[in-house]
Amino acid sequence: MSNRRKFIQNSVLGSAGILLSAKVVSASSSDTTIKKPIVVSTWNFGVQANEAAWKVLAEKGHALDAVEAGVRVPEADPKGNSVGYGGLPDREGRVTLDACIMDEKYNCGSVMCIEHIMHPISVARLVMEKTPHIVLSGEGALRFALANGFKKQNLLTPQSEKAWKEWLKTSNYSPSMNIENQSYSKENDPMPGGPDNHDTIGMLALDVNGNLSGACTTSGLAYKIHGRVGDSPIIGAGLYVDPEVGAATATGVGEEVIRIVGAHLIIELMRQGYAPEAACKEATQRIIKRNPEKSKTIQVAFLALDKNGNYGAYALQKGFTFAVKSGTEEKLINAKSIY
Ligand code: ASP
Repeated sequence: MSNRRKFIQNSVLGSAGILLSAKVVSASSSDTTIKKPIVVSTWNFGVQANEAAWKVLAEKGHALDAVEAGVRVPEADPKGNSVGYGGLPDREGRVTLDACIMDEKYNCGSVMCIEHIMHPISVARLVMEKTPHIVLSGEGALRFALANGFKKQNLLTPQSEKAWKEWLKTSNYSPSMNIENQSYSKENDPMPGGPDNHDTIGMLALDVNGNLSGACTTSGLAYKIHGRVGDSPIIGAGLYVDPEVGAATATGVGEEVIRIVGAHLIIELMRQGYAPEAACKEATQRIIKRNPEKSKTIQVAFLALDKNGNYGAYALQKGFTFAVKSGTEEKLINAKSIY
């Protein structure tokens, strides 16, 4: 773990760009009134992403537009080393991106291992809306994006290239655990997000008309084998939306999320009556059950929003933060964790 980032306790950026005294708290909400609109998203970069999503939600826009607009913020941020532009590359030095999006009608789209495109989430949306398919991958996804007006760009920033070259000296593949990540201040966060070599923005929104949508986008695990795809673009693993129940997303070591089909599991638990936080906790416990020893050494975290606007999260390790924005709340929360 690097300690590049120093976080200031109990601070979060407000929509006007000023530092608010909103608390970073351990909490989840759960009551019977329907809270809408609301948007929740993973990690520190969720704060700024939520602001972009909120602009859509506050104008009575659709949750799908909100989540797309929201996650495009970290995708375009070269300082974030785990999503989109600036994302750490695979072991061949190639930045490959995974993303998916889903709405309240079970429409969904995904791109896997796409290169050179700054906004894979928008390509995923186009796959959903303009093709008979759900997933496009690799070269085919790139060709589809270029044919639809997306620009080919170099996403490897000098900073990420330097980190990769440094990594090559040992070639030790080891996803980090982000346990230092206790609180946040934008000014002191040169690498918005959470841990140092992986992260995903997963965003879930409920709009004023009660529509749920979700989006998930990442550069995946740093220094992965070229071609590796994580949980994030896999519908049901990294993201799932079910209008009868709610929405859920995941972050952390994707292999473990795929193994338990994390997001879909959480939806089914909520369908059985689990509150969002309890469902996320149960999902983390499934991961532990599958591999108790490994679970102590990796980070996986889940975030859920039910159809009434109640949210909750749970992580294996300390340090997972998630951002919430609604008409009454704007905060970054430290999720509870097993360890
Ligand atoms: N879930 C992502 C992946 O496995 C990485 C992360 O969220 O940390 O690709």
